[in-house]
Amino acid sequence: MTTTARVPAPDLLHDFFARNREAMLDDLRGYVEVETPSDNRTALVAGLAHVERWLADRLGEPADRTLTDGGELGDVVVLGYPGAEAAEPLLLLAHYDTVWPLGTLAQIPFSVVGDVVRGPGVFDMKVGLVQIIWALLALRELDVPVPPIRLLLNGDEEIGSPVARPVIEEEARHAGRVFVLEASADGKVKTARKGVGLFQVHLSGIEAHAGLDPSAGASAVHALGRVIGQLVAATDLGRGTSVNVGVVEGGTRANVSAGRAWASVDVRVADDGERARIDAFIAGLSSGDDRVALSVTGGWNRPVMERTERGAAAFSDARAVAATLGLVLDETSVGGASDGNFAAAVGATVLDGLGGVGAGAHARDEHTTVSGLLERSALLAALIAGVGRVEA
Ligand SMILES: [Zn+2]
Repeated sequence: MTTTARVPAPDLLHDFFARNREAMLDDLRGYVEVETPSDNRTALVAGLAHVERWLADRLGEPADRTLTDGGELGDVVVLGYPGAEAAEPLLLLAHYDTVWPLGTLAQIPFSVVGDVVRGPGVFDMKVGLVQIIWALLALRELDVPVPPIRLLLNGDEEIGSPVARPVIEEEARHAGRVFVLEASADGKVKTARKGVGLFQVHLSGIEAHAGLDPSAGASAVHALGRVIGQLVAATDLGRGTSVNVGVVEGGTRANVSAGRAWASVDVRVADDGERARIDAFIAGLSSGDDRVALSVTGGWNRPVMERTERGAAAFSDARAVAATLGLVLDETSVGGASDGNFAAAVGATVLDGLGGVGAGAHARDEHTTVSGLLERSALLAALIAGVGRVEA
């Protein structure tokens, strides 16, 4: 048996991206300069239109397109591009929303200074879509066969993908591989990600004048203090579990025992055993006062993405491909969750963190690098070609 597909020659790949450096940066500038905050439907619609025009200009019209209406959130679009028929489809995940509110661009304009590229959302994860487009262009120019591509553009990733999740799960069930173009961790791909739970704890007590009759009331704020103590104690960093009470609210006046209090809690777990422990723990939370009612809303958002044998094998393949390009690829596990968690949970083989090199996701020093853009685009092209290889 011989393989019909060619692996692109490393020199030709590097040469392609070096030649197209300016055009790639122009594409990145155009994309960053269309602001796409997750909570602004109008901006997201305009942003998605920009992306689809840009894709059509560079890659031509897709063979098929499905749009899932996001309602008040961003729409989800899946674009299909044909490839070698014998190869399994490759699903590429790229969210186009960012955490940055409208107007951030004026404060942090797109800039390229030396190797450093700045701009809202440039690292998380606008640079990833530039890599996708140019990797596919490189393979076309070099006449290297690709697998059928499913490109999923998600507009609500930064708020937990409520609209995109079922679309991601459905696409991932039919994909041979899933590549997530989220930012890398210092260049490393992410083969395990923690699961995330978002809970709200509500306390309802009895209001009374706290000075005239201190025992008449039942303070929801005091009860919340006790509950926070319990929550913080559930942290077990040795097992990869962290509990953060990020927001609290409650009470009306200093001299009134509080009738209401509330806390918003973010939980991260590294495995399903810890998830079960936290579930039991939350079910057992107590206000410590019979007159203060406690209820919990919310739940688990993204499931744990554990490091599986298939994931590990996909990583070692990718590492070998990177080596042919003169790149060292490492893996890591991270506390942040992504749409890769959803894809892995339905059994797909996921490589996550194939996107930009840089730092500062969700922070004002967010940046990516030009050298990283060129290297990671070459790596992505070689990885896509690897998936597209078919036996003759
Ligand atoms: Zn992201």
